[in-house]
Amino acid sequence: MSANPFDAPIADERSIEERELLEVAKEALSRPNASLEYCTMSVDETLRKLETDPKSGLGSIAEASRRKLVYGANEIVIEEDESLWKKFLSSFVEDRLILLLIGSAVVSFIMGNIDDAVSITLAIVIVVSVGFVQEYRSEKSLEALNKLVPAECHLIRCGQESHVLASGLVPGDLVHFKIGDRIPADLRIIEAVDLSIDESNLTGENEPVHKSAKEVNKDSFNDQPNSIIPISDRTCVAYMGTLVKEGHGKGIVVGIGKNTSFGAIFEMLSNIEKPKTPLQNAMDKLGKDLSLFSFIVIGLICLVGILQGRSWLEMFQISVSLAVAAIPEGLPIIVTVTLALGVLRMAKRKAIVRRLPSVETLGSVNVICSDKTGTLTSNHMTASKIWCLDSMANKANVLSLEKSKSGSLKNYLTEDVKSTLTIGNICNNASFSQEHGKYLGNPTDIALLEQLSKFDLSDIRPTFKKVQEIPFNSKRKFMAVKIVNSEGKYSLCVKGAFEKVLSQCSHYLNQKGKTEKLTQGQRDVIIETANSLASEGLRMLAFAKTTLPDSPTLLTEESVGDLIFTGLIGMNDPPRPTVKPAIEQLLQGGVHIIMITGDSENTAVNIARQIGIPVLDPKLSVLSGDKLNEMSDDQLANVIDHVNIFARATPEHKLNIVRALRKRGDVVAMTGDGVNDAPALKLADIGVSMGRMGTDVAKEASDMVLTDDDFSTILTAIEEGKGIFNNIQNFLTFQLSTSVAALSLIALSTAFKLPNPLNAMQILWINILMDGPPAQSLGVEPVDHEVMKKPPRKRSEKILTSQVLKRLLGTAACIILGTVYVFIKEMAEDGEVTARDTTMTFTCFVFFDMFNALACRHSTKSIFEVGFFANKMFNLAVGLSLLGQMCAIYIPFFQSVFKTESLSFMDLIFLLVISSSVFVFDELRKWWVKRTTSTIDAYYDIV
Ligand code: ATP
Repeated sequence: MSANPFDAPIADERSIEERELLEVAKEALSRPNASLEYCTMSVDETLRKLETDPKSGLGSIAEASRRKLVYGANEIVIEEDESLWKKFLSSFVEDRLILLLIGSAVVSFIMGNIDDAVSITLAIVIVVSVGFVQEYRSEKSLEALNKLVPAECHLIRCGQESHVLASGLVPGDLVHFKIGDRIPADLRIIEAVDLSIDESNLTGENEPVHKSAKEVNKDSFNDQPNSIIPISDRTCVAYMGTLVKEGHGKGIVVGIGKNTSFGAIFEMLSNIEKPKTPLQNAMDKLGKDLSLFSFIVIGLICLVGILQGRSWLEMFQISVSLAVAAIPEGLPIIVTVTLALGVLRMAKRKAIVRRLPSVETLGSVNVICSDKTGTLTSNHMTASKIWCLDSMANKANVLSLEKSKSGSLKNYLTEDVKSTLTIGNICNNASFSQEHGKYLGNPTDIALLEQLSKFDLSDIRPTFKKVQEIPFNSKRKFMAVKIVNSEGKYSLCVKGAFEKVLSQCSHYLNQKGKTEKLTQGQRDVIIETANSLASEGLRMLAFAKTTLPDSPTLLTEESVGDLIFTGLIGMNDPPRPTVKPAIEQLLQGGVHIIMITGDSENTAVNIARQIGIPVLDPKLSVLSGDKLNEMSDDQLANVIDHVNIFARATPEHKLNIVRALRKRGDVVAMTGDGVNDAPALKLADIGVSMGRMGTDVAKEASDMVLTDDDFSTILTAIEEGKGIFNNIQNFLTFQLSTSVAALSLIALSTAFKLPNPLNAMQILWINILMDGPPAQSLGVEPVDHEVMKKPPRKRSEKILTSQVLKRLLGTAACIILGTVYVFIKEMAEDGEVTARDTTMTFTCFVFFDMFNALACRHSTKSIFEVGFFANKMFNLAVGLSLLGQMCAIYIPFFQSVFKTESLSFMDLIFLLVISSSVFVFDELRKWWVKRTTSTIDAYYDIV
């Protein structure tokens, strides 16, 4: 089995067993390994020993390939301890009912009923095989889920940096990591800037650990057992699977795969069985309750039968077969397979569900909180407009950058415009990649670089030295860069949200390049212009600069001030085309959509209106981050019903929003991509992270990853989630109605002193149909898109609702009546029970079951609407089951096994007519339900 080494449980959610295991893990971690060896070595020694370079990494691809051959892939592969055959054989003895059946075969053999013994043995093999195959499929599909989010990393080899799968790393490789990343192997850190790493999934400690490149002094640990340096004290080592919480750095790979610290304990951690989903638990409980009920009924049948003087061997066989058939032991497995297959299907539709229980929760989501940039919008920024106070005087003179795609804008290059563009160039971390032939980096930065050529300007970053950067983040909302030019003059360039930047400006730059004092009136004009451009949906950035005294002192966020305003640039980031129809459907299904953005109110309102989020009155529908700061959770919970937009919000606000929504009992899906989004993602019922833009920290905290970062994929996931739930309800109806019908049939015939209408073998065959392919194929019924029109399912709603119960009892009654009718009719013809009579009854039951399965494909829609060919798996499963049934009645070998005889064509037609009644009955029920609900809908529409 190959496993995802990053799937370890989160520290604070550990159970007692997990804690005990962690104790054992601690012991495993204290054994010497690569991280212990290298943590006391200096950077130079490490580089020398691993023959690698601190700047360009391994020197040749050939050397990397050689090391891969020697050390293998960077994966933790757990050997299967049991062979498939052993597993198969052990499943014969694991189930007590199967043991009883084996017992009954042995008894039959001893009593000389060789036919029976052979038949029962054959049945046992088939029943066990079907169960085994299903369980194996369930295991395999669960395993496949682990591989859906492969670990990636930034590798530097032969001087080239690339983004690769972590499994390809070899010792000696140079890896670059930054805030939000997951460490891909055990690394000896050689460079660290403000680096702290969350090692909780390895050590259990929640506090991130500060790391540096300095080697550990071995002598300080002489008092430790065997002088081993504890794992948390190896401060120059970054461990595989841990998460970078702050800063960035570089490291040399010293341990991979099993030879990492994670590898040492992974085997133990993977032994912790994943908790079952609420649905799986409910199914387990249902299975147990039904078993108890069935055992009581079967016990009674057996007792009454023996008291009536029937053969005890026959009663024993019937009872055991009935127990096998009536107990839907396949139910939990089918639920797991359905969930897992559903998750794989979702992955194909770009939504990766990381935790199985989330599939169930998806159908209950009634609030979606979504980021704007990149999720609702395409994140393809283009600088659309530029405005400077002096050269453009009023907002009517805004210079459009889009219209002039062809011609040069050089003539517009006044000093203030030039400074604005230059600051955009300096405060910029995007870079041109020769390999890709385009700029790589933050879309805002890229858009700013792309403007330079329109003004015949070029990138001036190589001409000065960057001394310090205060990076942009969603809380700070600006970025500042301190530079020194060739003459040794220091200056500071700032770009960011216009309120933020403007509040630090005391002067402005005029079109001639002179600095002038900024009056209140001019300040108002800037704000008015920014707001007006934002109302067009543009994302506004302000630019400012200042000269600094010739000092190398480090700047802090607070010391940025007294700036000279140069201009504004408005960025266009169009909504994704798929979002509007998705929002329309979600709103129809009663889902409340909230946009959370760091952008200004006006930009947010414009985008919201473009994508169909209702903003009737911005005073009620929009809440700003500032107002949010003043509200308690209760106050927020009271007003949030009307709120559709949170503007100028920070990731920290997301936590308040989720808390308030959950307080109201809402089931919340929340999107996020940054490190600071992680707490809100964890708290939300469904945390949704972005596959492309998202950090590993956010992905780790989330329940679902959108591989295309697209909001509309959430709709797809909810739709699938609801579909899966409906499918589970449908095959539950099928299995339980078959089970009830089989049990009642034998109980009734015993009570009325009639001979048994089905023999043990026939009952076992029915069990295979009930637990096997037809039931499973109901689990893969394609999603009916109309599920989105229905309101979200209540979180507390049970799977076995009274409607499901009524439906299955009705169906079972229909099957019982039909089968008893055929049995009595056949028996009455000759006054005794012949092989023909049981063949007719048996085939009738099987036909009934197939029609029942067909009816169960949808709970409310007619199959004529759903389409007879929409579920190929179903048709195949039913086709094969019918073929099996034909073999059972026409092939001599099986005739002797099932004690059947050939039926005429007219017999089959007769049985088909009788058994189709269950389908007709259910179609009528669906028609009735539709009629009454549409009347109710119409009634509510009128009201
Ligand atoms: P969300 O992604 O949550 O919808 P957002 O991405 O629009 O929100 P932020 O990234 O927090 O919000 O941006 C908030 C504001 O910060 C923007 O309106 C813009 O003015 C400014 N800003 C955005 N990116 C940068 C950047 N790279 N450098 C400087 N300022 C920026």
